[in-house]
Formats: sequence, structure tokens, C-alpha cells
Amino acid sequence: MNTAAFSSLPLNPALLENIASLGYTHLTPIQAETLPPILEGKDVIAQAKTGSGKTAAFGIGVLSRLEFNRFNVQALVICPTRELADQVCKEIRRLARFTQNVKVLSLCGGVPFGPQLGSLEHGVHIVVGTPGRLQEHLRKRSLRLNHLKVLVLDEADRMLDMGFEEAISDVISYAPTHRQTLLFSATYADPIREISKKFQFKPITVSIDSSH
Ligand code: ADP
Ligand code: MG
Repeated sequence: MNTAAFSSLPLNPALLENIASLGYTHLTPIQAETLPPILEGKDVIAQAKTGSGKTAAFGIGVLSRLEFNRFNVQALVICPTRELADQVCKEIRRLARFTQNVKVLSLCGGVPFGPQLGSLEHGVHIVVGTPGRLQEHLRKRSLRLNHLKVLVLDEADRMLDMGFEEAISDVISYAPTHRQTLLFSATYADPIREISKKFQFKPITVSIDSSH
């Protein structure tokens, strides 16, 4: 299974073409294990070490589950830092590069608020952001999550280490309860199991290795 080609997955041809254009021929182990349940709409906890291709796992999942003719926020990826959020944005945009009208927006602190408001008004499908700035936009109602289908907690272990649990809870309180929640982490310790219990529904657990 670890050497399966992307074409073995139920992905639309345009997305398969985008993936091929990046030179990705085969699924990494974490992608092979998580993409089938993600594409079925299930909640997934995914643990695999850094550099194992977790971004594309949820990126492909998100891109294949959204409706791009509707301009509303359908996916939210929460990341611990602006640097990581920008990397995730970049990878999702690369995965969507020949797909028309996919709008991916980074909403992080440390950059001016005003331009983010303008971008949100233009219509966005996928928001990638850090907890504090997301809270600010949600409180001011410049960001609305009532059409959210997929929520991703990326680098969940790091976000817990950084003390973001309350902020994350607050952000998630704005999201519909009927949604898909994906939790990605480099480690799989008790705190991860606990936030999974809090935010996920009957998750499938995928753990690729414990050596890191
Ligand atoms: P992680 O989030 O697990 O730390 P990344 O998502 O940042 O890892 O991926 C690490 C690198 O692997 C990136 O440069 C990405 O472009 C590349 N990559 C991801 N999936 C594949 C694939 N299926 N085939 C080849 N390279 C891939
Ligand atoms: Mg990552």
C-alpha cells in the first residue's frame, strides 16, 4: 500500500494532474494510510515524523472535498506559527495550481490586519492561520465558519506545547459541529489523544512510526 500511485485514489483528474506536475508519483506512507479515510469524510488522527508529507495528505483531502463554485470558507487549517502557515498555503496552492479559482488565504499575526479584511471580502475557500489572529477575525466577524466542511489541526503537538489549547477551542467554537476534523502531529502523546476526544468524532488513528 505504501507504494501505491495517486491514480489509485478516487481523486478528480485535474487534481491528479496537479499532483503529477509536482513530480509526486507515489504516496508517502502517511498519505497512503490517511487519504482513503480522509476522502471518505472521516475524522483522522495522523502521526508521522517531520518531512513525511503530511501537508499534501490533508491538502489533497481538503482540495478534493470542497466546492469551488461557492466562495465561502470551507476549510480551515490551524498552524502554530506564521512560517508554518505560509508553508502550508504554498503547498496547497501548488497542489491546486491548474485548478481554477481556488482561493487560499493565510491569516496570521505579525502582519497588518487591514489587507486580510480585503482578501476575506473577495471570497476565500481555504484559510490557513495561527490561533490568535483567527480568534480576532472570528470575534470581529470578518471570518465566518458557518460553511466549514473540513478543519485541520496541523502540528497539533507543537500548538499544545505553545499553550494554544484555549485559543484553538475558542476558534473551533465558531465552527459547525457537523464537520470533518483532521489532526496532524509529529508525536502521539496523551495530550493529543485528549484534544482528539474533545474535537473529533470516531477518529481513525494512523501512526507511522515512533522514532523521531
Ligand atoms: P511534514 O508536514 O510531514 O513535515 P511536508 O508536508 O512538509 O512534511 O513534506 C515534506 C516534503 O515532501 C515536501 O517538500 C513535499 O513537497 C514533499 N512531498 C510530499 N508528498 C510527496 C510525495 N507523494 N512524493 C514526493 N514528495 C512529496
Ligand atoms: Mg507539517
